[in-house]
Amino acid sequence: MLEQIDKDYVLHTYARNYVNFKKGVNATLFDDQDKDYIDFTSGIAVVSVGHGNKRVADKIYEQVSNITHISNLYAIEPQAMLAKKLAELSGYDIRTFFSNSGAEANEGAIKIARKYGETKFKNKKYKVLTLENSFHGRTITTVKATGQESMHASHFSPYPDGFSYKNAIKDLYSSIDDETVAVMIELVQGEGGVQPFDKQEVQELAKFLKEKEILLIIDEVQTGVYRTGEFLASNLYEIEPDIITLAKGLGGGVPIGAVLTKHKDIFSPGDHGSTFGGNYLVTTAALEVLNILEEHKDAGTLDETMIYFNDKLNEIYKNNSELFTQNVGLGLIKGLRVKDADTLAAIIKSAFECGVLVLKAGKNTLRLLPPLTISKEEMNEGFKRLQNALDKIK
Ligand SMILES: *Cc1c(COP(=O)(O)O)cnc(C)c1O
Repeated sequence: MLEQIDKDYVLHTYARNYVNFKKGVNATLFDDQDKDYIDFTSGIAVVSVGHGNKRVADKIYEQVSNITHISNLYAIEPQAMLAKKLAELSGYDIRTFFSNSGAEANEGAIKIARKYGETKFKNKKYKVLTLENSFHGRTITTVKATGQESMHASHFSPYPDGFSYKNAIKDLYSSIDDETVAVMIELVQGEGGVQPFDKQEVQELAKFLKEKEILLIIDEVQTGVYRTGEFLASNLYEIEPDIITLAKGLGGGVPIGAVLTKHKDIFSPGDHGSTFGGNYLVTTAALEVLNILEEHKDAGTLDETMIYFNDKLNEIYKNNSELFTQNVGLGLIKGLRVKDADTLAAIIKSAFECGVLVLKAGKNTLRLLPPLTISKEEMNEGFKRLQNALDKIK
């Protein structure tokens, strides 16, 4: 039923699994046959406070029963409060623009960089350097910024000028010329294979770019909002980027993106905008998500969860050394490198059948992004099922 309607009426952009989820409670999902699944994906790092979170649901209900949307032509109280909260939690002296997604947040970041490059220098600077295996979005511009050749299909061309990507951070230095305005990187490459960069290497890059007055854009669409243990991965890396983008985990499931920048006066009215961006619904939800996660962090329970999850994952890694070659990632953005892509596909399928949801990243990385509020019982059950799933394919 669902499968047929979906196939008949929805464009085929995803290789879908036709399970029909009907209910969610924290990190547990139930399908229409009442089979339950432990969710180690959180909707790709989105459902940061778990499924069916009552505190967020109550706030959303209260807000949409009153005002959902009025447009950005008027001040929006929860939007202003959320921007203030982002500045406080990050510790940076910043202002925020709200978008509806990660790609749009990155578009905003690129527009800030381009305007900076036009107004700050005699000769316009406009080039943005990124890294191989990065992921920055699916719009024509952000897909071009994405350092994966397979995503630059000719049927979508021509792409905008001014984007190129390099193999590694050390290769960025020699690629900078007098038209380079920004470097955009993730601190842990998510889609590319859960690959964290070396802290010192990133700090040295940040220092170098600052001296050259080239902007550092950190795409924290996946790593932001406590995913690595700190509010931002940039906090963990102890850098002060010019621009940071957020989306996935920020709204706990409502679509919201954000561009944070210390160039607080870069935009004038008319430079940028969004109809839906930062409306009452999404900013009310995001504020409550941040309240919940801030309490989780301050109480020490987020750190405990990360330690417990990592211990359990390490057991799986060690007990299945014939399948896995590397244990990668930080906090609750984790991956196990699988010996080959076919084995990874078999693991994901077997895990689903055994009632645990896991993801792929890059070519051969098993990716785990559980809700940050996952319980000990859910972790125990999820890892038990994952071991079952591995035993079945050995
Ligand atoms: C998911 C992701 C994006 C794109 O976000 P959308 O909301 O899908 O547009 C951009 N950058 C990174 C690092 C991501 O993980």
